[in-house]
Order: sequence, then C-alpha cells, then structure tokens
Amino acid sequence: MYTHEFQAKQVLKRYSIPIPPFHVVSTMEEVEALMQKSSLQQAVLKVQVHAGGRGKAGGVKLAKNPQEIHQAARELLGKKIVNRQTGPEGLVSHQVLITPLVEIVHEYYLGITIDRRQGREILLASAEGGMDIEEVALQTPDKVLVLPIPFGRELRSYHWLRLMKTMGWTGTLVEQGKQIVNGLITAFKETDATLIELNPLVQTSKEQLIALDVKLSIDDNALFRQPILKGYFDPSQVSPREAQAQQHDLAYVALDGEIGCMVNGAGLAMATMDMIHYYGSSPANFLDVGGGASKEKVAEGFKLILSDPKVKAILINIFGGIMNCETLADGIVSAASELEIHIPLVVRMEGTHVEQGKKRLQESELNIQIAHTFSEAAQSVVKAAKMRGSHGDSC
Ligand code: GDP
Ligand code: MN
Repeated sequence: MYTHEFQAKQVLKRYSIPIPPFHVVSTMEEVEALMQKSSLQQAVLKVQVHAGGRGKAGGVKLAKNPQEIHQAARELLGKKIVNRQTGPEGLVSHQVLITPLVEIVHEYYLGITIDRRQGREILLASAEGGMDIEEVALQTPDKVLVLPIPFGRELRSYHWLRLMKTMGWTGTLVEQGKQIVNGLITAFKETDATLIELNPLVQTSKEQLIALDVKLSIDDNALFRQPILKGYFDPSQVSPREAQAQQHDLAYVALDGEIGCMVNGAGLAMATMDMIHYYGSSPANFLDVGGGASKEKVAEGFKLILSDPKVKAILINIFGGIMNCETLADGIVSAASELEIHIPLVVRMEGTHVEQGKKRLQESELNIQIAHTFSEAAQSVVKAAKMRGSHGDSC
C-alpha cells in the first residue's frame, strides 16, 4: 500500500528523520486560516497523490510571498497529475502540502527496499538525488551505492565508510547521516515497509541534512498488524473497482480484456488467464475470491466483474476444497439471481461434492453453461464472448 508524502513524513518524524515543518490543506478556507495564524512568507506547495515525478508534472510550486502561496494553492488543489507513475487516467490531488522554503546546497538520494533475489533488505544511496535519480541509476549505475543490510540490521564500519565516501559527507554531516540511516533501518522494520525513500534528502546552507520528500510503501500482507498505517489508505488514489475489492478483501487486478474471471486460489486464477489467452481472448481481470470463499464474497466478486463495461462473458473456475462445490454452487446461484446477469456465464467446477454442485447449477432457472473440463470452459467462454462481440451488443 502506498501512503501520501504527508503521512510518510508523520511516520518518519518518529524515527529521528529530520523533516521540515509542514501543513496539509484541502480547501482555500484552510489556506486562508493557515496564512492568518502563521508567519509563512515563502513556501513550497506540493500535490499529494500516490505517485512520484510530481515536480516534472507541475505538481510542485515555489512561492516567494503570501500572494504566490495563495495562487499556488488555488492551482494545485484538485489538480490532476498525469505521468508514467499515475497511469493514463491520472490522479487528482485532494490535499496540498505546504512547507517553508528551504535553501538547498545539495540534493541526495537515500532509500531502503527489498532485494528479492538476495532475500534481504538493501540500502540505496547516491549523491545525485533529486528529480533525475531514475536517469542517474540508468545511465550511471555506479553513482548509486547498493549496500546489503546485515541481518542484525547494524551496518558495519566498512559500510559506513563506503556510504560516507559515496555521499561525500565529512565533519558534522557524518553523525547526521548515520542517525538518518539508522532511523530509516528501524522505520523500515517497524512499519513493515517494502520501500522507503528520501529524495531529495538535502544539505541546507546551515550544514543540516533534512528530508524534503519522503516515500513510504507498506506490505499489504502486514496491514493487519499496522492499524494506524492501514487507516492511511486513500480510496481516491486507486481505481474504484480496486478500492471496492480491497474493502471486501478480494484479490482483484483490473486488466484490459473482455472475459470476467472469478476463481478461488491465485494459482488457479493465473492458469485460468493463461487458458483464456490460449484460446484466443484475454481476461478483463484477475480475481481470486480465496480458498474459503463465502456466498457474500462470491456476490461481491460478481458485482465487481459486472461493473466493468468491457466484460462480454464470465468464467467461474472453482476448485471445491475448503468450501465444497455444493456450497459454492448455492453461492453462485443466489448471487447470480439477485444480480440479474445478462451476459453468458460459464462455470467449471471440480473437487469435493462436484456432482451435487453441478446438480444445483442445473436445477436453477439461470442460464448457466456448465463445462466439464478446464479447456472446455475456456473454449466456451471465449466463443460466447466472440459471438456477443460480433452481435455488437453490450450490457
Ligand atoms: P517529486 O518530483 O514527486 O519527487 O517531488 P519532490 O518533493 O521531490 O520535489 C521536486 C523537487 O522540488 C525537489 O527535487 C527539489 O528540487 C524541489 N523542492 C522540493 N521542496 C523544496 C524546498 O523546500 N525548497 C526548495 N528550494 N526546493 C524544493
Ligand atoms: Mn522526490
């Protein structure tokens, strides 16, 4: 899960990462109130969206007087940012962060993430931070230091030496840098992060290191033990269908094909998508309702699929294990009758009580096509979608 910059800053402040003071506003009235009670003269204003590259997309503005602060806030509140990181639909900024303007002497990059190949956390550091770090990493990878973080989470003296050399930190910057890196390592562990970035971490004209921009992503699988961070979820920053799926604990990924899929088990869901491709079509989504899917989950899954106008036919591929086929068939029948499905529905079932399950489907009044094998199911649904496509009707 992504967090907003202001949320990440709130979190990292607790780990002795130096963060300049900031305010978050969501209306012009709030800007007015802030300007009346503070003595803010010069500020940087930044859109709050779940994407980086805001500076280059016009989402970061420097204001040299109160009038410019008002002007920038008016421009940024409600602004839509569209870049490679937001995707073509873009993301709207409902909040704007306002922070005093800092004089920058140097911009650094500092980050921690997981290297899955090594199976460990790595520290990334570069003296060429700022808006072009991706370019730096691509063109001159030797300018980015990559240090594996030891399992005890304490850097060794040779790690520190390499880090200081890369960053060019001497004098008072050495201690400040150490405190920041140690804070990041602890924060990474305690927040169950998958990524923390300070970019830029800057040196000010007063020889201080401070983090001007902060990014924090949390492992979704750890959110159950991170109640505060879980509360940071912002549905306005994900597609409506993905937000709905998250609410009902369904693993859903929107894709751009025409076959809606509902499957129990991630492996089976992947195989189902492969089979749809194999027979000449493509899936509109990945949806894993889980091994112990209840009737309610099946109903929510249906609603998600049906709300996607691209879907021309639905394939349900179920393996009855934890939940037997009969119970699942009941769930499908009741959800399908409630929702009035007007597009072809193909069901393939296998596993415990499969005969009873198929019987339930046959006995229902619904127009369900029962497939007896995986390939038959995939072929039928692709054929049904193609026929529908050629008739040119949609629901
Ligand atoms: P990003 O483009 O989404 O990564 O947004 P950032 O918050 O990193 O801002 C982009 C750039 O704006 C930074 O690299 C800085 O050069 C500049 N910037 C951000 N905050 C300040 C500030 O307080 N003072 C100054 N002078 N520049 C800033
Ligand atoms: Mn940045």
